[in-house]
Amino acid sequence: MKIKADYANAPQWQEITVKSTLPEKLKCLDEIAHNVWWTWNYEARDLFRDLDPELYHEVSHNPVLLLERLSYERKEKIVKDAVMMERINAVYSLFREYMDVEPDASRPSVAYFSMEYGLNHVLKIYSGGLGMLAGDYLKEASDSNVNMCAVGFLYRYGYFTQSLSMDGQQIAKYEAQNFNSLPLERQLDENGNPLVVDVPYNNYSVHAYVWCVNVGRIKLYLLDTDNELNSEFDKPITHSLYGGDWENRLKQEILLGIGGVLTLKKLGITKDVYHCNEGHAALCNLQRLCDYIATGLTFNQAMELVRASSLYTVHTPVPAGHDYFDEGLFGKYMGGYPAKLGITWDEFIGMGRNNPNDHSEKFCMSVFACNTCQEVNGVSKLHGWVSQKMFAPIWNGYYPEENHVGYVTNGVHFPTWTSTEWRKVYAKYFDKNFMKDQSNQSIWEAIYNVPDDEVWETRMALKQKLVDYIRMQFRETWLKNQGDPSRVVSLLDKINPNALMIGFCRRFATYKRAHLLFTDLDRLSKIVNDPEHPVQFLFAGKAHPADGAGQGLIKKIYEISQRPEFLGKIIFLENYDFQLARRLVSGVDIWMNTPTRPLEASGTSGEKAEMNGVVNLSVLDGWWLEGYREGAGWALTEKRTYQNQGYQDQLDAATIYNLLEREIIPLYYNKNEKGYSEGWIKVIKNSIAQIAPHYTMKRQLDDYYDKFYCKEAARFKTLAADNNRLAKDIAQWKEAVAERWDSISVVSSEWNIPSTGAVMGKEYTLKYVINEQGLDDAIGLEFVTISPDKNGEDRIFNVIPLTVIGRDGNNFTFEGKLEPNNAGIFKSAVRMYPKCDKLPHRQDFCYIKWLDLPNM
Ligand SMILES: *Cc1c(COP(=O)(O)O)cnc(C)c1O
Repeated sequence: MKIKADYANAPQWQEITVKSTLPEKLKCLDEIAHNVWWTWNYEARDLFRDLDPELYHEVSHNPVLLLERLSYERKEKIVKDAVMMERINAVYSLFREYMDVEPDASRPSVAYFSMEYGLNHVLKIYSGGLGMLAGDYLKEASDSNVNMCAVGFLYRYGYFTQSLSMDGQQIAKYEAQNFNSLPLERQLDENGNPLVVDVPYNNYSVHAYVWCVNVGRIKLYLLDTDNELNSEFDKPITHSLYGGDWENRLKQEILLGIGGVLTLKKLGITKDVYHCNEGHAALCNLQRLCDYIATGLTFNQAMELVRASSLYTVHTPVPAGHDYFDEGLFGKYMGGYPAKLGITWDEFIGMGRNNPNDHSEKFCMSVFACNTCQEVNGVSKLHGWVSQKMFAPIWNGYYPEENHVGYVTNGVHFPTWTSTEWRKVYAKYFDKNFMKDQSNQSIWEAIYNVPDDEVWETRMALKQKLVDYIRMQFRETWLKNQGDPSRVVSLLDKINPNALMIGFCRRFATYKRAHLLFTDLDRLSKIVNDPEHPVQFLFAGKAHPADGAGQGLIKKIYEISQRPEFLGKIIFLENYDFQLARRLVSGVDIWMNTPTRPLEASGTSGEKAEMNGVVNLSVLDGWWLEGYREGAGWALTEKRTYQNQGYQDQLDAATIYNLLEREIIPLYYNKNEKGYSEGWIKVIKNSIAQIAPHYTMKRQLDDYYDKFYCKEAARFKTLAADNNRLAKDIAQWKEAVAERWDSISVVSSEWNIPSTGAVMGKEYTLKYVINEQGLDDAIGLEFVTISPDKNGEDRIFNVIPLTVIGRDGNNFTFEGKLEPNNAGIFKSAVRMYPKCDKLPHRQDFCYIKWLDLPNM
């Protein structure tokens, strides 16, 4: 027998978890590490860093991993270090003091649904602005001590990490996350086993594990399908954010909406208001409908309750940016729902269409959200208006300006985004109540009492910190990826904290016009290469992996940045994420944004900059249209001069060059003997005093309560009282109106306007007799006049109600007094609508019949 050259079986590797244990005295650190409260409390972050600075850097500032990896010797040493132990105990007291406050029961409770949350750099469950907003919102909910919980996904791969190839091509890398070393906990059931939520997908179930992130006092529940209970087909549902095909997207949205509600049910949680952050979660209302119907209510009754208690926030200003599912795919997963709801398939899918009967329309999740949520809002004043227009086709019979879509302008979480350096300045000079009363402008006025020297020192410290961060963070990757080492070293040396630094950092979507600055390269070169007045531009941002144009932009900017005249003057920083964003929004001098108006729904990074004495130079779009104050930053006019986008871009670029050359650079370099510009400090102070207070997350949260949550919760309560009495009454009333609607008729009509036309200042009387077909005063009439706006679009000019002045059986007599006091040619008609003061607004029951005017 020949002896085999090798003979070995394959090892059966078994996972053995070796848990590191902490000495009793350090156990409290574990509790703090597992609450992302540390993200916005620098005392805690600094403490973790100082436990072992080298290791802290190695574990990328992840406290959970830090504690896990802390060596036995190090732990022993800490326990024996009296000063360190005192610090630990002090931070723990701070934490407990914060945590032990009871939630404020006086405000309605809220369940919040979002596809992404940007809480910190460790939890890679966000991609950009939407997630940051949601993360900031939960933190503020915790600080404001409201009763809120939230639902989202724990992504195995999260959003991608960005690097650039030698020629500037974006490389997207998806890294698997090890959930055990993240600041979260597995949610257990009452028996101590992992909680599993079974989510129906037509004829089978997907099983989701639930993880819980403690966001201060708020619980964020994250669903995870990447587990052994699911098929290979369903495990990837929670693999990546905005990855996969439309089928996976639909499966995600089923999981978020339906799975989200089932999760709360399993945990025994009910809330007053259900808030969909963007349309992705709208199916939560489908599950809630099913749940009400299962208790014996009809579809129409259930709808009253669901609508009254839900809010939809839209973030996407273009119709194409919303999710559409074709009927075949939608039917594959949702086919069983009509039977549960007691309606037909066409009625069901129609809830996701502008025209429910148009079978060529796909199912749009946002339309479904509008149809199942009583309230809808955009995220800035301008975006509110854009959304009113965008959704107008859902509510036929009303003009966009009449529909109920409102707005709450986005804000940012002050303690997360304000650098430690500035927080110390504010703590020193501002009223001691400041943190509790952050959106009070009068407190911020105290910035004028801060000596200019101190403002400048703070700014310079943060610029230096940014420069250090770039040198440390990028040296290695650039040396590895960018070839020529001497070039990289020279680039790093050229980064100059004394230069005027301008940041342009955001997602690379083409509408954000990152290319604008590069319209005239000769002029740009003169600006950045002035030896007396150097200027540096820092660019950062990811492009969606499917967005070729966005990636092309990155490549173009990268190529320009490598030209000799721009080397070290225009710098592209890879992998814009939470940490880099924190350094940039506090480190540069100017935050620049150049979106195509009105496509920036709000934008929030510029608000982060405000709190750090970084001033904005931006198009008057999104939040900046409201935020801009003269002498507190710079604005590119909102007026659109050219229809042709290319010309408009050239004009806007020229405006930016002009502003830089004539105003901004001279002001920045108008330095006094102490080496800074007093004029510049003035701009900083103005922007902190006059702009920053209005863009805190506290103001945003308060706005949601004032504009939506309180109103909805109160109405829901009256609807649900006495075994849902009012919900049933309203449903019944709507059914009666709907049934008779087509047969309601005009018996007679008259008015006394002469055929030659009305005369200004004279009063005319318009009369209608309407047969309400047995309804009891359920109809309203109004005289509507429209006229074209400056773009030639019809707008409401005025609306004059007619009042009921008599009744004869089923016939109601309406009369209106009209007194024209504007000359011109107008278009008028009479609009009939169902009238009921129990409804929140007209679009809640959007039946409209336009009546002809009487013959003149
Ligand atoms: C704040 C933030 C955003 C959103 O900024 P916009 O102004 O909306 O572009 C995106 N990404 C990161 C990492 C952020 O911190």
